Amino acid sequence: MLTLTYRYRIYPNAQQETVMLEWLETCRRVYNYAVRERSYWMNSRKCDVNACSLQSEYIIPADTPYPDYYKQKKALTEAKKSSPQMKAVYSQVLQDVIGRVDSAFAFMKQRGYGFPRFKKFGQFKSFLFPQMSNEAIQGNQIKLPKIGQVTINLHRPIPEGFKLKTARIVRKASGWYVMLALQLDVQIPDIPPHGRAIGIDVGLEYFLSTSDGEQVSRPRFFNKLHRKLELLQRRLKNKLKGSNNRRKLNQKIGRVHEQIAKCRRDFHLKLAHKLCDQAGMIFVEDLDFRIMAKGMLGKHTLDAALGQFVNQVLPWVCWKRDVYYGKVNANGTSQECPDCGALVRKDLSVRTHSCPECGSVKPRDVASSQVIAKRGLVAVGQTVNEIACGGEGAGVAMPSYHPLKQELLGVI
Ligand SMILES: [Zn+2]
Repeated sequence: MLTLTYRYRIYPNAQQETVMLEWLETCRRVYNYAVRERSYWMNSRKCDVNACSLQSEYIIPADTPYPDYYKQKKALTEAKKSSPQMKAVYSQVLQDVIGRVDSAFAFMKQRGYGFPRFKKFGQFKSFLFPQMSNEAIQGNQIKLPKIGQVTINLHRPIPEGFKLKTARIVRKASGWYVMLALQLDVQIPDIPPHGRAIGIDVGLEYFLSTSDGEQVSRPRFFNKLHRKLELLQRRLKNKLKGSNNRRKLNQKIGRVHEQIAKCRRDFHLKLAHKLCDQAGMIFVEDLDFRIMAKGMLGKHTLDAALGQFVNQVLPWVCWKRDVYYGKVNANGTSQECPDCGALVRKDLSVRTHSCPECGSVKPRDVASSQVIAKRGLVAVGQTVNEIACGGEGAGVAMPSYHPLKQELLGVI
């Protein structure tokens, strides 16, 4: 099963835009209500039933079950009967909002902290139609349930044979977009491990370091854009809440955010292609960046963009380019000597790896990326040959493109 997400601009008319904005606001309220319901229930269970809480008292009977996904979904159907605003929204859209609350709580449980936040006015930026079909798109129009025909700019055609599954409507600073999830029912064989291997270590000082000794810094233009952003955000406090000037400034800030996201994506894609030019196998550490972003390494890795690169952009480009992508155990990659395997303890402030056993000296991140490459090769069952010297993996032919995939790549 192959799923692609294509993004297109849509141009709703004034009336449709009003409807969509109203829907976003209703969705936001439903979201906040569902979060509040769950948080009240949790707070009411914080002390024993036969004891008085010192801070506050929640009067939720002891036998009230936890408002989980199914209960909230059922309650939603009830609530709709008395609310014209909720009735106005397509029912599956609201059900999906409950699903979003559910996954936010599931994620909190998984990482152990980070209570889902309430969304402020204007912070709810997208809603999803979970069931769409190809017939919805005719010419330059897309038919959205209850909203009607909306003009869409199909700047690239929907690839042949793909089925339209879902459509997410997104509001950005630059306008409205639709993200179409397209699915194709095919089995494409996995790419076998082959060719030269490189290991990649991300974060901290450099954006990434490869086992060939190449170190890529964070691009400069981000600093420039971030400075611009700070400047605008500082001005925000002088503007009266709810004023037109504040709204305009917020719009400007939104545009800068969008620009940063676009530049980042461009940088990621180019870098991923460059890495694929050099190798047949790419290995990375198996890290959960969402968890790391606020954890121990918080200050250094605050860029969640690293996770986006390692877990989304790089695997996608590798798949397209027929490069094997593998993850290896991340434990202690920076504490091992890549050349002799000795344990070399160093804390975060030590930037150079120098091994007392074999005398190898190299930048810390390069050393750990070499350890990653070594672990990757062991994992795929190949002999470790001189990664540091850039062994060419002689005699290993690149596999030819799978014919179906080649055909696919022609259209996607
Ligand atoms: Zn050593």
